[in-house]
Amino acid sequence: MANIYYDKDATIGLLDDTIVAVIGYGSQGHAHALNLHESGVDVVVGLREDSSSRSKVESDGLRVANVADAVDEAQLIMVLVPDEIMAEIYHDEIAPHLEEGDVLAFAHGFNVHFGAIEPPEGNDVVMIAPKGPGHLVRRTYADGSGVPCLVAVHQDVSGKAKDIALAYASAIGGGRAGVLETTFAEETETDLFGEQVILCGGVAELIKSAFTTLVEAGYQPESAYFETLHELKLIVDLLYEGGMGWMRHSISNTAEYGDYTRGPRIVTDETRAEMRKVLDEIQSGAFANEWLGQAREGAPHLIEQRETQSNHQIEQVGRELRKMMPFIEEKRA
Ligand code: NAD
Ligand code: MG
Repeated sequence: MANIYYDKDATIGLLDDTIVAVIGYGSQGHAHALNLHESGVDVVVGLREDSSSRSKVESDGLRVANVADAVDEAQLIMVLVPDEIMAEIYHDEIAPHLEEGDVLAFAHGFNVHFGAIEPPEGNDVVMIAPKGPGHLVRRTYADGSGVPCLVAVHQDVSGKAKDIALAYASAIGGGRAGVLETTFAEETETDLFGEQVILCGGVAELIKSAFTTLVEAGYQPESAYFETLHELKLIVDLLYEGGMGWMRHSISNTAEYGDYTRGPRIVTDETRAEMRKVLDEIQSGAFANEWLGQAREGAPHLIEQRETQSNHQIEQVGRELRKMMPFIEEKRA
């Protein structure tokens, strides 16, 4: 059975005499910094001199410093900058300012696991990875709940690395939902696999393919949109609340029969073989090399696809239909 920890298993007081530097103030950074601060932890946010987030940090009531100064001052450094530029920032602005005994922390194992960052031997290296986007890490904390977290220890010099990671996880609200112990390898590889195969890549392709099949067969795009994209949320909510059983209990018998008999024709042995290949590319580091290489060249494929995908018919139809649903707060990339 996995090790899962809750607030009762953590001592936030372990961070009492620790200044935490949160490097970056994006999705995760703002959530960690504000939650830590409200849990009584002394926080400094590390940003570039010319960062547009500086005034935001200050108006949120937090201290801000240059990355190097924040690292100098802190005893725990949480690195929350984009993964594809993290190694460069680490080498230029963090590593030279690390002192022996400082704890180095990450929210995703990517750079350490694939060797782009090799932390010095004298430092504890931990991961505290919320299993949700930053705005939820913040919102749930403010509501009195939290987002489940993963914690892992890559290096334990002090003998307290795991307890420090648990304290941090509790301080950002994770201990209210559950903190699962894992490894850098497991977190990194499962996270990449999940986002590629189901959460982002798999789901997006399934939606677009189903939408296009209906439209090409002559059905109204609006009808196809409601069926293949809008309704997905209602089904996912049921899965989230009670698993497959609750979802199937809530749908009609007709839908349930179609689920058992047609679902396995959509995801086939061929699909599973491809999933395995995607996993192999993750495990071998081939995906990481490909993506870091792309990022070094300015991520041309990513930028081109952003444009192409935003012009897909399902996106155009969706933008129009959501305008008519005032209860959906407008979100645009
Ligand atoms: P983000 O893109 O939202 O924010 C990155 C922030 O880094 C920027 O807002 C900026 O403040 C800062 N930054 C950018 N360039 C910088 C530079 N040169 N010097 C200093 N600061 C700079 O990133 P994010 O999504 O919060 O991801 C941060 C980490 O959290 C990553 O390791 C990611 O894998 C991990 N993570 C993200 C999520 C998520 O849902 N977004 C979930 C779990 C873990
Ligand atoms: Mg992720």
